[in-house]
Amino acid sequence: MNQRLSTRRVDRRPCIHEWCVTEHGATVHPDDEDHRSVGVALTVRARRGEDRGGGEETTLEIGALRRSDDPETWIVIETGIGVSLALTRDGARDLQHRLAEAITPGGPLSRDGIDG
Ligand SMILES: [Zn+2]
Repeated sequence: MNQRLSTRRVDRRPCIHEWCVTEHGATVHPDDEDHRSVGVALTVRARRGEDRGGGEETTLEIGALRRSDDPETWIVIETGIGVSLALTRDGARDLQHRLAEAITPGGPLSRDGIDG
């Protein structure tokens, strides 16, 4: 068997987080060793809270992040409009639940009033 033709082997440490896609041990910068999930993209119309107008179409990317010095995993929402938010899993679940209650048909934020 010709050893020169064998695939180059990189020693990658297996990650303890099933959702992590970081190639541990194959990165250069220490920050690249953070545990990151695949991002889930969602295109929406959005604007920064302090802005006015109709906003712009942008892509939200939602994923998990756990930096090497974090004691817990964060759910991160990154946007294409210059803001991002990191929530604990419990906080993300609370936000999901509250949004669902508020904007579901019949919810207090589901419409603007009689006409909307
Ligand atoms: Zn990892």
